[in-house]
Amino acid sequence: MPTSSSLPRCPYFLGGEWSPVSGLPTSPVFNSSTGEVIAEVPMAGVAEVDQAVRAAQAAFPGWAETPPSERARVMFKFRAKLEQHFEEIARLISREHGKTLAESRGDLFRGFEVVELACAAPTLLTGELLPNMARGIDGELARHPLGVCVGITPFNFPAMIPLWMFPLALVCGNTFVLKPSERVPLTAQRLAELLAESGLPKGVFNLVHGGKEAVEALLTHPLVRAVSFVGSTPVARAVHLTASTHGKRVQANGGAKNYIVVMPDADVGKTVEAVMNAAFGCAGERCMAGSSLLTVGDRGRAVMPDLIKAAQSLTVGRTDVEAQPGMGAVITAAHRERVRGLVDEGERAGARVVADGRGVKVPEAPNGFYLGATIVEDVRTEMKLAQEEVFGPVLNVLHMNGLDEAIEMANRSSYGNGAAIFTRSGGAAREFKQRVRAGMIGINVGVPAPMAMFPFSGWNESFFGDLHMQGRSGVLFYTQPKVTTSRWFAEGEGDIWRK
Ligand code: NAD
Repeated sequence: MPTSSSLPRCPYFLGGEWSPVSGLPTSPVFNSSTGEVIAEVPMAGVAEVDQAVRAAQAAFPGWAETPPSERARVMFKFRAKLEQHFEEIARLISREHGKTLAESRGDLFRGFEVVELACAAPTLLTGELLPNMARGIDGELARHPLGVCVGITPFNFPAMIPLWMFPLALVCGNTFVLKPSERVPLTAQRLAELLAESGLPKGVFNLVHGGKEAVEALLTHPLVRAVSFVGSTPVARAVHLTASTHGKRVQANGGAKNYIVVMPDADVGKTVEAVMNAAFGCAGERCMAGSSLLTVGDRGRAVMPDLIKAAQSLTVGRTDVEAQPGMGAVITAAHRERVRGLVDEGERAGARVVADGRGVKVPEAPNGFYLGATIVEDVRTEMKLAQEEVFGPVLNVLHMNGLDEAIEMANRSSYGNGAAIFTRSGGAAREFKQRVRAGMIGINVGVPAPMAMFPFSGWNESFFGDLHMQGRSGVLFYTQPKVTTSRWFAEGEGDIWRK
C-alpha cells in the first residue's frame, strides 16, 4: 500500500537527477541500535526500473567512447571524496546497519580499496597483441564494455558490496543501475551523491530502491547486459537462473557456513582472539563469518575456556553513540527471533549452550535488535544449527579426533566460501589448503576475505556463475573480448592504404 508520513523518503537517482518518489509502497529503514524507523524506501516496480535502465542505456555510447584514463580520473575524484567523508559514511553505516564504528570503517575501507583498483583502469584494460600470429598476419585482443550492468546488494556490507561492483563496471566503460538492499539504502544513497559530485556524466550511474519486484524487472529487462548479485543462496540461485535465461552475464554470490579448524599446536591466545572476531564481528552477519569451530584433539579443545570467557564478556550495545560496545545489534527484530529460534531448537535437540547471549539486555535501548555472543557445543550434523546459515552471533563447536575428520566435516557443507586453520604446522596447513572445498582459505587468519586485487571466490552453493567479483576477474566480467586479425598487403600486391 502507498503510504504517506513525515519520515525521510529515499529518492532515486535517474539520468543524473535525484527524483523524489511518491505513490509507491514503502519499506521501513531501522536504526537497529534503537529499533526506531529512520527512513522509508519507495519500492520500485517495472516502470521505475525501466526508467533507470533506459537512462543508463542512453548514456552508454558516450561513456564507452570516453578514454579509460578519463574514466579513471572520475574514480580518483570519487576516492578523494570517500576519504574526505570517510567518518561520516562510517557513522551512517553504523546507524542503519547496527555494526560498530570500527566495523563500519572496515566495511567502507574494503570498498575503498576497490575504488583504488578501479583507478588503475588504463593498465587493467590493456589488451594483447601477437605480431605475426600467422605469416604476415597479426592478432590483437581488445576488451570492450558490455552496456548496462546491474548491481543487487545485501544488507550486511552497505558500502563494501556496492563498491565491489560499480567502480570496476564504470571504469570498464559500462553504465550502471544499483539496487541496494531496502534495509540499508542510506549508505548507497550517500555513495551515489559523492559519485555524482565526482564528475560522472548524467545517466552513467543510476540508483533505484526496492525488493523482489524491482530485482525481477532488472533481471528480465532486455537492455540489461550483466548482473552482479550478492545475497542469500536461494535468491542467488534464482537470480542466476532468471538472468541467464534472459541472456545476461551473471555473477551471483550466495550464503555461507565457514569452518575454523583449531589444531593441537595452535597458539591459544592468538586463536581465541581471531575466532572471537571471525564468529562475532559484525554480530556474525558476515558471509565470511567463522560460524563453526572444529577443535582437534584435547589440546585443540584447550581454546574453549578462554573462548567462553571472552564471549561472556563481549559487551553489546548501541553503535550510534560515541562510546562503542564490543558488538552491535542484528539487522531486524525478525532476524533476531530467527537466530534465537535456531539456538533454542538446537538446545532442545541436545546441544549445550555454553555461552548464552539470547537474553541480553541493553537498558538504554530496550527496543534495539540485540543478541549476545552465543557458543553452542555438541551440535550434531542433523540439527538446523549445523546445516543452515545462522547469520548471527552464534558459534557452533564440534570436537574432532584428527585433521582428516575435520576436513571431511568441513567438506560436508553445501557451501564453499571460506575455511580457516590455526596451526604451527606447515604440513597440516598445506593439507588443509589442498583438500578443503572452499574458495577462500585462511591460514592463521580467521576471516580470509581477499583484498581488492584478488577475486572474492566462493565455491559450491556460495557462488553461481564463472567470473568472480573484484580483481582481474571483475575486469573480465565487465568486458568482452574483441579479437582482430589483420593482414597488410605488400606493395605491388594491392596497396590498399595508398588509394
Ligand atoms: P537477501 O538474499 O535477502 O537479499 C539480497 C538482495 O536480494 C537484496 O537487494 C534484496 O532486496 C533482494 N531480494 C531479496 N529477496 C528476493 C527475492 N525473493 N527475489 C529477488 N530479489 C530478492 O540477502 P540479505 O539478507 O540482504 O543478505 C544476507 C545474505 O547475503 C547472507 O546469506 C550472506 O551470506 C549473503 N552474503 C554473501 C556474500 C558473498 O559474497 N558470498 C557477501 C555478503 C552477504
